[in-house]
Amino acid sequence: METFEQHYAAMCAAIQEHMPGADMDLVNKAVDYASAKHQLQKRKDGSPYIIHPLAVAQIVAEMGLDMDAILAALMHDCIEDTDASHEDIEKLFGRTVAELVEGVTKLTRANFSSSEQAQMENLRKMFMAMSKDIRVVLIKIADRLHNMRTMQYQTPAKQILKCRETMDIYAPLAHRLGMQKIKWELEDTSLRYLAPVEYGEIMSYLQAHKEQDEAFMRTIQGKITERLTAMGIRNTTYGRIKHVYSIYRKMQAQDKTIDELYDIYAFRVIVDTIPDCYNVLGHIHDLFNLVPGRFKDYISTPKPNMYQSLHTTVIGSQGIPFEVQIRTWDMHETAEYGIAAHWKYKQGTGGGTEKDFEWVRRLLESQQDSDAEEYVQSLKIDMFNDEVFVFTPKGRIVSLPSGSTPIDFAYAIHSGVGNSMVGAKVNNRISNIDATLKNGDIVEILTSKSAKGPSRDWLNICKSNQARTKIKQWFKKEKREENIIHGRSSFESEMRRSGLPLSITVEPEIGPQLLKKLSFESWEDMYAAIGYGGLTAIKAVGRIRDDINKALKVQANEKMNLPHPCLESDPNKLNRHAINGVIVEDIDSCMIKFAKCCAPVPGDPIVGFVTKGFGVSIHRADCPNAQHRGEPHQAARWVRVRWAVQEEQPFDTTLELDCLTRDGLLLDIATVLSAAHVRLKELNGRDLPDGRSVFTVRFEVKNVAELESIRNKLLNIRDITGTRRGQN
Ligand code: MN
Repeated sequence: METFEQHYAAMCAAIQEHMPGADMDLVNKAVDYASAKHQLQKRKDGSPYIIHPLAVAQIVAEMGLDMDAILAALMHDCIEDTDASHEDIEKLFGRTVAELVEGVTKLTRANFSSSEQAQMENLRKMFMAMSKDIRVVLIKIADRLHNMRTMQYQTPAKQILKCRETMDIYAPLAHRLGMQKIKWELEDTSLRYLAPVEYGEIMSYLQAHKEQDEAFMRTIQGKITERLTAMGIRNTTYGRIKHVYSIYRKMQAQDKTIDELYDIYAFRVIVDTIPDCYNVLGHIHDLFNLVPGRFKDYISTPKPNMYQSLHTTVIGSQGIPFEVQIRTWDMHETAEYGIAAHWKYKQGTGGGTEKDFEWVRRLLESQQDSDAEEYVQSLKIDMFNDEVFVFTPKGRIVSLPSGSTPIDFAYAIHSGVGNSMVGAKVNNRISNIDATLKNGDIVEILTSKSAKGPSRDWLNICKSNQARTKIKQWFKKEKREENIIHGRSSFESEMRRSGLPLSITVEPEIGPQLLKKLSFESWEDMYAAIGYGGLTAIKAVGRIRDDINKALKVQANEKMNLPHPCLESDPNKLNRHAINGVIVEDIDSCMIKFAKCCAPVPGDPIVGFVTKGFGVSIHRADCPNAQHRGEPHQAARWVRVRWAVQEEQPFDTTLELDCLTRDGLLLDIATVLSAAHVRLKELNGRDLPDGRSVFTVRFEVKNVAELESIRNKLLNIRDITGTRRGQN
């Protein structure tokens, strides 16, 4: 059984080693206080409870933390397990110590083990956020480390529960804080209980191969040191076996047994400068054979926890692969002290000797300065201050942007909860729905089936985009009538502000064009969108302003009896890309089709009509369907077009021939067309009642001149009395 004396002596030694000249009277006062409080408690192995706080304080001292943290470690279970109070501790040891103990107690009370996997990242964040002072987290990690070291006294069920929790929460936290050694110990100890068979296998293999391994590592280390020293590179080089859990993970990932797994050695080369690191890398790759694809440059791309090093895997002469990590002393310090070193860099105090990088030493030094308080403040956690973590009544954690309110919480749970919210309880007391939530709050939303739904004010109160989006969605769906009224009035006042006539939106030919530009099916839809905030009136008007002005100009020209712009010809503007032998002004590429009603051919005066969805339809200028193009409701859709004369493309055209009925007329027509080398497409005749008949001829021509010449030849045929351009 472990004794008080052993642990007390070990703790004092650790304190005196890391903090020479520490006030041991103060330490003893805390030991006495905690001993008295825990007097009646026993550890699971039957030893006095005080052994645990002593051991935790020892670990905290070894981490290099300050006196406040050591005192808090000694009393870390007092509030939770005994009748000690925050006030007692504050009176005896000061406010900081009391707050640290309180912080650890809070973490102890939070039930971190019962949550599902998906919540783990949130849990870790909340763990950090709940402990406003990093020392709270470090004391809690020390507490867990000692509990892991004495896990053999727990029941098997408790062992598994605690080890899972350690793997889920504490090991990742230690990793994030850069405390590699503690992380490894937490992982290895957890593995021992979570996978005892594999753990035992690995341990006995390593034990059996100990001498062999050490000999191998000495050889490699010797080779590296010899080369680097010969090249004048100052270095500290050593080898180690990777920790048990990482070997276990490799076995799982590669589906191998340990004797099939060679990659269990890691060497570390620590040098003075970054250029030296890359130099060393070159020598390593020269001394040994490179394993391709394993080189990682964490110097140029540090890991999120600030870790920097070059990693490479090589194979020595025995055919055994091993990893080499190359880093500077700065990087080594960062790897050892993690987040603490990160703070130091953030404060811009980089550079200096090896000792200068010990943030803990700096912490101790600055305690003698007058601004010690300020310095400790600067160490406080600011990692997650843009998030707040709260609980549902059932204990689920919800992460929200900091400053969030019960409204944000309600919509984070479900939009149905938000939409039927009538009130909220925070920590079991009725709260305003615009109250600011704090870490660890338990929030309950009061709902009612007769709730009227969200209020528009909520859009200004809520902090999360999620809530805002869902509230807008509700207004979009539930309040269409109201939105239309709302939206219409904003739209109308924006139109007036822009000096545009509202009447234009209801003009039959312009209105639909404007709607199409706005991508809405109806004006009501658009008003509704403006009403619920999906579109602003300013944006809507801006999108159609040019089109309205263009239409207004056309209308003004009409009034002044100016020629319709479609019929004007501005040769400078006509230098356009030809599509299907036609040039459309102002449109570089669009679909073109020739109207069947008038079948224009090159040379015909033509105009274009912008159809809904089928591009521009080309009509002859004298086509009956084009006669209303000057009218205001059509003006915007008629565009100027002209023939691209360089194109020698044939066009279909149709002529109707008025005839007096006689035998052989059909043959005469066919003969004339054939002699003129016309490509005939269709030739039909039908009799009319009064001895007359009509023939319809469809054929290809290149231009209107050719058409005229063919028409004249047909008119020369006896009994043909007239011709008309027909429909194709
Ligand atoms: Mn404890």
